[in-house]
Amino acid sequence: MPLSGGDRKHYARELARIERLHADLEKRMAAAYEVAHRLACEEWNARQFIGGNADPSPAIAAAVQARYTLLEVKCGTCGRSERVYLPDLVWPSDKPIHTLAKVLFCRPCRAATGATRRPNLVALCMPSEPTPSPAAVGRR
Ligand SMILES: [Zn+2]
Repeated sequence: MPLSGGDRKHYARELARIERLHADLEKRMAAAYEVAHRLACEEWNARQFIGGNADPSPAIAAAVQARYTLLEVKCGTCGRSERVYLPDLVWPSDKPIHTLAKVLFCRPCRAATGATRRPNLVALCMPSEPTPSPAAVGRR
């Protein structure tokens, strides 16, 4: 059934209104996810600091989205600390942070002894942090 002129205008207005609403909801949803991811990173950092399990952990992509783009690691053998830039990793970003524990290795130890030493995962950090957060101070 054809729409009258008035109905067509009403329909066009409603369509435009719902499109704006949808765009706004998408923006708000992205912001809410970012907050949730940030909380998950902070919770994981706190859990690492108090000696809790590394598993479960936020997905790498979620940490990056929350602007936690650095993972502080520390070698238990040589004591060297390093911050790994997560977006540069050749590792699926949908995998949780703790899965990196079995693939990262300490380069100085490898160079010195040829042995593969897995570093401890210390904390997720933001690049803007000039010094390690309390949770990133050498706990292990
Ligand atoms: Zn080492």
